[in-house]
Amino acid sequence: MGYEADLKLFINGSWRTGEGRDSFAVVNPVTGSEIAELPLATEADLDEALETAKRTYPEWRATEVDKRSAILHKTAKLLKERADEIARTMTQEQGKPIAESKGEVFGAASLFDWYAEEIKRDYGRVLVRPPGQLSRVMHEPVGPVATFTPWNFPIYLLAKKVAAALAAGCSVISKPPEETPGNTLAIARALDDAGLPKGVFQLVHGVPDVVSRHLIGSKVIRKVSFTGSIPVGKHLMKLAADNVTKITLELGGHAPVLIFDDCDLQKTLDMVVPQKFRNAGQVCVSPTRFYVQEGIYDAFITGFTERTRKVKVGDGLLEDTRMGPLANTRRPEAVEALVNDARDKGAKVMTGGSRGDSGGFFFQPTLLADVPLEADIMNNEPFGPVAVSRSFKDMDEAIEQANRLPYGLAAFAFTENGRRANLLGDAIEAGMVGINTFAISIADAPFGGVKESGFGSEGGKEGLETYQVVKAIHQA
Ligand code: NAD
Repeated sequence: MGYEADLKLFINGSWRTGEGRDSFAVVNPVTGSEIAELPLATEADLDEALETAKRTYPEWRATEVDKRSAILHKTAKLLKERADEIARTMTQEQGKPIAESKGEVFGAASLFDWYAEEIKRDYGRVLVRPPGQLSRVMHEPVGPVATFTPWNFPIYLLAKKVAAALAAGCSVISKPPEETPGNTLAIARALDDAGLPKGVFQLVHGVPDVVSRHLIGSKVIRKVSFTGSIPVGKHLMKLAADNVTKITLELGGHAPVLIFDDCDLQKTLDMVVPQKFRNAGQVCVSPTRFYVQEGIYDAFITGFTERTRKVKVGDGLLEDTRMGPLANTRRPEAVEALVNDARDKGAKVMTGGSRGDSGGFFFQPTLLADVPLEADIMNNEPFGPVAVSRSFKDMDEAIEQANRLPYGLAAFAFTENGRRANLLGDAIEAGMVGINTFAISIADAPFGGVKESGFGSEGGKEGLETYQVVKAIHQA
C-alpha cells in the first residue's frame, strides 16, 4: 500500500509546499527506506507564523464559547470519519500496529470533544465583599502558544495540547515531529474544514532547534508546551526563561511496576505483557521496572517469558502484528547498548535481547531478569521493548525502589489488598499511579509528572488552566 499523505506546511491559513525550502526525508521504519519529502519552514515562514498568531489571537479570544465549542466538536467528528486513512499514514511513518494507530486517532478526537465541553464550564469566582464592592477572579487565555510534540504518539499528543489551547481561546503554532508528519497534518485539515478561522492554528515543520529558538525567542509567544526528552525539556525551559514565558514540560519516565504476592498473577501477566510491548515500549508511561515479591518472582518470570515469545512482531499494516518496528534508527541502537550493558553486568536475558534479522528498525520483545541496580537500564529510560525485573521482600523495599530515580511520571502496582493499595497511592512519587490498571491517560484526568519528569498537567481541567492566566479585578 502506497504512502498517501501530501506533506505541507500550514501557515497563515494556506498550505505551503517545497518551493525552494529545505526538506527532510520521511522513512518507513519497517524497511528504513524513504517514503516522502517533508518541506521545512524557513525563518521567513516562522516570522509570518508569529505575525499571524499575534493577529488572529484577539479575534479567536473574543469568539463566543459556543462557537469555539462547535468547531472543536466538528474537528473530533472529522477525525473519527477519517480515522482509517490517518491511521494508515501513521503506521507507515511510525511503525505501530494499525489498530493502535486507529485507537490513537479516536483518542485524539476524544480530547477535542472533551475540551469542547469543559470550556463551557470554566467559571471564575466572585469573592465575599461588603455591599457595593466587587472582587472577581477571571480566567483569561494566556496568549499565542507554541507546541512541540514527539513521534511516539504524534496525533494524540498534538491533540492534547491543541484542543486545550484552542478551547481556552489561544492561537497556536505547532511544531510536530519531522519523522511522523503526515498524520499530524490531519489535525490542521480537520480544524480548517471544521471552520476554525484562518491562521488561528498553524503547523510548522522544521529543524527542531531552529524552530524552538525562533518561536520561544519571540515575545509573541506567551506559552510553550513540550513533550519529549528531559535534556531537551531543560534546554527549552532555559529559552523560555528569557521572556518569562509559561512552560509545560511532559518529559520522560521510567515507570516502576510493583507486583505483590496477593495479586491475581495470571490476570496481571495477561495485562502487563501487551502493555509493555504497546507501541514497542516507546511510551513515556510504559511499564518498565518490574519489582516482583519474592514468593511469586519465578512464576512471574516464567509467565512473562512465555507470553513475550508469542508477541507477533512485524509490519504494523498487517492485521496480526502485535508489535511493529521502533520509530527511528536511534531507538534500536540505544536499546541494544542498554541491553548489552545489563548483560555484561550480570542480568539474565530470558527472551529477545537483540534486533533480530528482519532489517528495518526492529528490536525483539525482551525480558531481562535479576538486573543489577547499577545497570544503565535500571537508571535510564529504555524507550523500547524491554522489561527489566528484580525481586523484593516487603512493601517498604518496593516503595524505596519505586522512588529511587529522578523520574516521577507514572507508576503501577498490582495487589488485591485494599489497604495496601491506599498506602501505595500515597507513598509513590509520581504524577500518575495506576493500581490494578494501566488506564491513566484519559481526557478528563490530569496527566503529567513530578521530579525531572516535568511539571504542568495535560488533560482534565488542569490541562485547560495551563493555557490561562488568572486576573483578580477589585472594584470599590
Ligand atoms: P530527542 O530528545 O532528540 O527528541 C525528542 C523530541 O523532541 C522529538 O520530537 C524532537 O523533534 C524534539 N526536539 C529535539 N530537540 C528539540 C529542540 N531543540 N527544540 C524543540 N524540539 C526538539 O530524542 P529522540 O531520540 O527523538 O527520543 C529519545 C528520547 O526522548 C527517549 O528516550 C525518551 O526519553 C524521550 N521521548 C519522550 C517522549 C515522551 O512522550 N515524553 C516522547 C519521545 C521521546
